[in-house]
Amino acid sequence: MTRRGFIITIVKGAALAALPAGALKVLSPSEVMAAIKETPVLWGFVVDTYKCVGCGLCVKACKQENEIPLEVPVSRTWVERYIILKDGRVLIDSPHAGANGFTSQKVNNIEVNPENIAKAFFVPKLCNQCENPPCVQVCPVGATYKTTDGVILIDRKWCIGCGYCIQSCPYGARFFNPILRVAEKCTFCYHRISQGMKTACVDACPFGARQIGNLKDRNDPVTKIIQNERVSVLKDAFGTKPQVYYIGMDENVR
Ligand code: SF4
Ligand code: SF4
Repeated sequence: MTRRGFIITIVKGAALAALPAGALKVLSPSEVMAAIKETPVLWGFVVDTYKCVGCGLCVKACKQENEIPLEVPVSRTWVERYIILKDGRVLIDSPHAGANGFTSQKVNNIEVNPENIAKAFFVPKLCNQCENPPCVQVCPVGATYKTTDGVILIDRKWCIGCGYCIQSCPYGARFFNPILRVAEKCTFCYHRISQGMKTACVDACPFGARQIGNLKDRNDPVTKIIQNERVSVLKDAFGTKPQVYYIGMDENVR
């Protein structure tokens, strides 16, 4: 059943059961999800920055899976290169979202002498599927909503493309879909994980730098990592409570 069909079915059922004729209320996607009982699944993601080599295969796989053309500069996931210089300066770049890897010694047109580098590493990023998602709160039509298993989705049929959610995301995780002209972002490949598959990026990473799992399952490898290893989240001060956890996060990452 399509989402819209699902909404119509719920609305009709509610109308027959409880409402007088003519009192039909069309439920927004967020209202529909709120009405569904909680499930025993909560999706969480682990990024191991020690393992990431910046090859960009995850970005390419994501773009292919989610039909975001390789040549456009936006992406549901991206990889950032951090170069910490001995003088304390921090250089960050992500050309083409990191899809083609990082082969240039130039960072944002600055030629970097390897002898001046104190530290360099890569940080894959994606939507944090926040427990308190600001993007859901600002959407004026309820087109963006949280599923019962903790993933933030966008209903493309309801999205009016106002861009409020894009501005509200503290992680820069949202962008305009250049083809559909609606808000777009990582969904943890919801169409795959809800069918028992891994996300496209997890499957594509040859180094195991990305993992997804069910945080409600104590025996899930991702749950064990979060419980037993030193992990951190991005921009904790915003109170968003991200569900993407990082191993080896450097203090310079933002
Ligand atoms: S990371 Fe951004 S887009 Fe994702 S849920 Fe949080 S605020 Fe929304
Ligand atoms: S595929 Fe894995 S190693 Fe390559 S950039 Fe992505 S996360 Fe890093």
